[in-house]
Amino acid sequence: MRDEPVIGVLALQGDVREHVAALTAGGARAVTVRREGELDAVDGLVLPGGESTTIDRLLRAFELHGPLRERIAQGLPVYGSCAGMILLADRVLDGAADQRTLGGLDVTVRRNAFGRQVQSWEEDLPVEGVTGDGGPVRAVFIRAPWVEEAGEGVRVLARVGSGPAAGRIVAVRSGDLLATSFHPEITGDDRVHRYFVELVRDRLRGRGHEERRGLGSAGSPRGS
Ligand code: GLN
Repeated sequence: MRDEPVIGVLALQGDVREHVAALTAGGARAVTVRREGELDAVDGLVLPGGESTTIDRLLRAFELHGPLRERIAQGLPVYGSCAGMILLADRVLDGAADQRTLGGLDVTVRRNAFGRQVQSWEEDLPVEGVTGDGGPVRAVFIRAPWVEEAGEGVRVLARVGSGPAAGRIVAVRSGDLLATSFHPEITGDDRVHRYFVELVRDRLRGRGHEERRGLGSAGSPRGS
């Protein structure tokens, strides 16, 4: 087995360089993805934040919407941050009229949920399976969505701890799909990316089905 998973970063909009750097620090070979052929070559994919309506339009323009939707449905591990979370969601509230998502994640997200007055929010958050002994993750929310409703098979990894959005779900995992409302790539803390790299590695080892067999049975999702 290759021990260095190849992880793509969708390079249509957003913090592409920062995600590439964090994935590389986390032990992956990170590559940018703009075409279907590049998509075929990756073991996992990061969907950066940005503007989900714009990324949706660009995905169609680059003829990536269909192929990517299909790969996700077939089990491609994907990590979506902020707008990336919206793209993974099966259902969107406050979306644009013609907004489509790639889907796969059984959640309802609310776009720009933190509201007009609180467009941005920062908080140190414990994230299940990610923080370990290293202390909470600095979560930076920028016109971020939250998860309004999560389906049964979705594991909640973090909720907002204080302020107007206290209790709202902001990190989830379902099978090999991971999503956060916040942007870990801009803080220099690569633990969320490491978590995703491990997830992809587990998947390559054929051990990526812990989540489906029963939540919590594995203790730390980072495994042994
Ligand atoms: N508000 C953006 C959207 O709807 C997401 C913001 C972000 O990714 N930082 O897509």
